Amino acid sequence: MATFQLHRTDHPAPDAEREAVVADPVFGKHFTDHMAVADYTEGRGWHDLRIVATDDFRLHPAAAVLHYGQEIFEGLKAYRHADGSVWLFRPERNASRFVSSAHRLEMAPFPEEAFLASLHELVELEQAWVPQGDGEQSLYLRPFQIANEPYLGVREAKNYIYGLLATPVGAYYPAPVKLWVTKNFTRAAPGGTGTAKCGGNYAASLAAANEAAAHGCGQVLYLDGAEHRWLEECGTMNFMMVTSDGELVTPALGSILEGVTRDSLLRLAVDHDLRPVERQISIDELRDGVASGRVVETFACGTAAVITPIVGFNSPEHGEQQVGDGEPGPVTQALRAHLLDIQYGRAEDVHGWMRKVC
Ligand SMILES: *Cc1c(COP(=O)(O)O)cnc(C)c1O
Repeated sequence: MATFQLHRTDHPAPDAEREAVVADPVFGKHFTDHMAVADYTEGRGWHDLRIVATDDFRLHPAAAVLHYGQEIFEGLKAYRHADGSVWLFRPERNASRFVSSAHRLEMAPFPEEAFLASLHELVELEQAWVPQGDGEQSLYLRPFQIANEPYLGVREAKNYIYGLLATPVGAYYPAPVKLWVTKNFTRAAPGGTGTAKCGGNYAASLAAANEAAAHGCGQVLYLDGAEHRWLEECGTMNFMMVTSDGELVTPALGSILEGVTRDSLLRLAVDHDLRPVERQISIDELRDGVASGRVVETFACGTAAVITPIVGFNSPEHGEQQVGDGEPGPVTQALRAHLLDIQYGRAEDVHGWMRKVC
């Protein structure tokens, strides 16, 4: 088991300050006292796995990540159960996806065992930062990897930094959103980086997100890059729909990001008398299905919000369309409650998804 050497900070947040943050967390703003870090050097491999005070990195201005965007990340949470214990949800999926993302960006992969050790060791050390789970609060974990070799030639870097940050995140009651079906932007194309969790995909998505907001929509529904016809995902969340004949349908893998939440919901579907289906869905099928009532509910899913109900669509050619009565549907709400109950230890973990930290 990889072990991160602990260098304790001399300046931990005072108890009162930490308690105030944990009682009313703001996602991504306050970080735990420590972070995990490791270095990669060509010829030497990964070394100096350590837990240190959360502090600035020193980067040469020519560090490859600053110019060519060799960067990947992950996102998962630590959950506190009613008995005070702290758990991770399917972290092996994040570990293996991190390796896949590294391969796509031609980065040295961080070993899965070391990735998992960083999560366990940092969360155990910082357990006082894990909020009470009674209102869906958690400690959000952000593993990431950047190329820090100072070199302006275009090729893969020889040096990398792995980092793991932790930030308490508050109760998140997802507001129902409408999706903007954009014709101006695509997220991914066959052979592109759509299946990798890399920062560049997010930089490229901001314009579409702002276009959506300008049209009163909370998220984008991306169509495929080749034909502008097949549903892909929402850019930070995967897309699912519930049909009147009892199917839970989601776009097949290909150029979408393979979400852990997506996979988990497909596996919970049978408990809700739903058949899980992964296949191509055209925008016309969605539009006609919503109009005819064959598509009864739609939602987006991902670690941050678990499930965000989608209550309508808007597009330049077809205007606004409402799903059902415009309110979050019963299946959407039941699936969301089911997954949260597993994560917070209120439902039996029949799939063996939970990993105890402490
Ligand atoms: C992270 C992410 C998701 C959701 O994945 P989860 O593992 O469920 O959190 C969906 N789409 C994109 C583009 C993502 O980056």
